[in-house]
Amino acid sequence: MKAMVLKKLCNLKENQTPLELMELPVPVPGDGEILLKVSVCGVCHSELDEIEGRTPPRQLPVIPGHQVVGRIEAAGSKVSTLKIGDRVGVAWIFSACGACKFCLAGNENLCRSFEATGRDANGGYAQYMTIAESFAYPIPEVFSDVQASPLLCAGAIGYRSLRLTGLKDGQHLGLTGFGASGHLVLKMVQYKYPNTEVYVFARSAEERAFALELGAVWAGDTPEQAPHKLDSIIDTTPAWEPIVAALANLESGGRLVINAIRKEGDKQSLLRLDYPAHLWLEKEIKSVANITRRDVKEFLSLAAEMNLKPEVQVFALEQANEALFELKTGKIRGAKVLKID
Ligand SMILES: [Zn+2]
Ligand SMILES: [Zn+2]
Repeated sequence: MKAMVLKKLCNLKENQTPLELMELPVPVPGDGEILLKVSVCGVCHSELDEIEGRTPPRQLPVIPGHQVVGRIEAAGSKVSTLKIGDRVGVAWIFSACGACKFCLAGNENLCRSFEATGRDANGGYAQYMTIAESFAYPIPEVFSDVQASPLLCAGAIGYRSLRLTGLKDGQHLGLTGFGASGHLVLKMVQYKYPNTEVYVFARSAEERAFALELGAVWAGDTPEQAPHKLDSIIDTTPAWEPIVAALANLESGGRLVINAIRKEGDKQSLLRLDYPAHLWLEKEIKSVANITRRDVKEFLSLAAEMNLKPEVQVFALEQANEALFELKTGKIRGAKVLKID
């Protein structure tokens, strides 16, 4: 099979082709596993963190990709609920132990044995991949493969982030960063909280224009002051400066939810952190970690109910490096996906 493979960690600014197109054997599904013929795999910012070593794969080489849509081509023994020909998706959660206190309480995203698709196990930048059937999700019929793919990470983790804000209808919500996840959160908010106004902070003029086009009431550059204090803000940026800026925009008692697996270099921005301006008055900060199967399932059914269609840019599998480089350099409108023949 064809696969785009990460063999060595690198800095994308120095090496714009971190992934290598390779011909590999088709994997064989083990007990309880299915073999997927991959149709589409989304491109996520977490892939940059894997490639550049901020959340490094356990071993190399590895096939990245964790927003996978495909059909079941073969099944190992003990597969009981899914069958050959079914269309399913795979998300960031590849496996969790199922027995620890976190798993038993429904917080499998916090499991210390959490394995991530495309980082700790081969993912979907390939023609085939295997996964336990209990970690695959039937895709609602209303979505094409291309439309479903970004829902599996950008959408599902956006859903988790929105839940963690504790937002109530009519409160003001801020989004700092407006990529794949941000634009889906905006659409979810319009459906679930019709009286909530959304304020968007983004460094690029294109992202701000895109936010206004989709119905944000205001869009400004990252360090700007919004015309309103915001009850919650979701951060989806890779940097620290937006955190400080967001805290200054937060209402008393408000909550900043950081939806990022790692942050990059600009730590000196934190030295501007001023206790009365940024933290006092019971402001809270909460990070989002990983995803649970419940999040993915609940979100897919909500997305189908509200007919949530992501804005998608399609690349060929062989163009994975190009898609990643565009993500790195901030050329973002909606979600990027790889279409795999
Ligand atoms: Zn992701
Ligand atoms: Zn566990």
